[in-house]
Amino acid sequence: MVEDCVFCKIRKGEIPSTVLYSDDDFMIIKDINPQAKIHLVAIPNIHVPYIDMMTEEGACILGKIISKISHLQEELGITGGYRLVVNQGENAHQTVAHVHIHILGGEKLKDF
Ligand code: 5GP
Ligand code: ZN
Repeated sequence: MVEDCVFCKIRKGEIPSTVLYSDDDFMIIKDINPQAKIHLVAIPNIHVPYIDMMTEEGACILGKIISKISHLQEELGITGGYRLVVNQGENAHQTVAHVHIHILGGEKLKDF
């Protein structure tokens, strides 16, 4: 946990958020600045700043997140398809240095 990390603060309840799912390993919240009709962020509890610093434990949690998302499609409003995105570093416009997976869906997304 890092004192000035937005996502660690959200997990501690110091910053309010809309939580759709949480367990011992991670939480799924609504993104504050949605880029699609449904835009959620899955945030591991452990603070790993960048995907290129990922630990084995962290990677295991990312796997659990991906598996759980597939089972929560209805609850999350992403039936019909979704996009998972992880931004790494400056060129990808990563703004929060706490690894997270964006979940985008709820509509037909733009093709790459
Ligand atoms: P990044 O750009 O690092 O890949 O994604 C960070 C995401 O976190 C952005 O989509 C941004 O809108 C979201 N975000 C930043 N601060 C907050 C916050 O306080 N609450 C919520 N719910 N989302 C946030
Ligand atoms: Zn953090």
